[in-house]
Amino acid sequence: MNIILLGPPGAGKGTQARRLVDERNMVQLSTGDMLRAAKDSGTEMGKLVAEVMAKGLLVTDEIVIGLIEEQLETVEATGFIFDGFPRTLAQADALNALLGRKGQSLDAVIEMKVNDDALVSRVTGRSTCGACGEVYHDETKPQPADGKCSNCGASEFKRRADDNEDAFRTRLLAYYRDTSPLIGYYYAKGQHSAIDGMAAMDAVAGEIKEVLDKA
Ligand code: ADP
Ligand code: ZN
Repeated sequence: MNIILLGPPGAGKGTQARRLVDERNMVQLSTGDMLRAAKDSGTEMGKLVAEVMAKGLLVTDEIVIGLIEEQLETVEATGFIFDGFPRTLAQADALNALLGRKGQSLDAVIEMKVNDDALVSRVTGRSTCGACGEVYHDETKPQPADGKCSNCGASEFKRRADDNEDAFRTRLLAYYRDTSPLIGYYYAKGQHSAIDGMAAMDAVAGEIKEVLDKA
C-alpha cells in the first residue's frame, strides 16, 4: 500500500508518518528529511539546497524527484508513505510514472486539514530529538526537565533552520501556490480523502486508519 500525506507545513505529516512506520511496517519517504540529511553530511547537493530550504522556498523538482527515484529503486517495502512529496504537479506526475514502472500505484492521498492560525505556533515552537526524531513543542509537549528524550534518553535536541516565522510564511505561500493544486488533482482521480488535522494526535491516527482500511 502506497500513500501520500498531504498538508501545509506543521500539519503533522511527519508525526503521523512515524506512527504508521511503527504500526504498519511501512517505509517513510520524507524528501525534507532526505534534504536535511544531505545538508548535514555536507554533500554538494546538500550545500546547494541548504539556503533554499532555510528561506522556506521549494527545492527544484529535478533534485527531489531524483531522491525519490533512488529510494524507490533501492528500497523494498510493503508500502511507502510519501511525506512532503509530491509538492508540485510535476512531482505528482513523476511519482505516478515511477510507481507505474514498479507495477505499483497509489492507494490513498490523505489531506491533513489544519487551521492556518494554528500552524505558525506549531512550527515555531517545535524541536526534535537529535537521536530518534521524537517531536517536542515548547507549549504543548516541552522537552523533559531532566534534558533527556522521553523516547530514547538522548540529550541532544535540534531546531530546524526554517522553523521561524519568516521562513514559515514563505513555506505556507509555497504550499498554497504550488502544492494545494494537488488536492484537486487527486480528487479528480478519485484518490483524495481529507481528515481533521486539528484533532488530538490519537484521533488523527484513528482517522488515517479508517481511510487506509477502506483503501
Ligand atoms: P514541512 O512540511 O514542515 O514544511 P519538510 O521537512 O517536508 O517540511 O520540508 C522542508 C523543506 O525542504 C521545504 O521547505 C523545501 O525547501 C524542501 N523540500 C522538501 N520536500 C520538497 C519537495 N518535494 N519539493 C521541493 N522542495 C522540498
Ligand atoms: Zn530521542
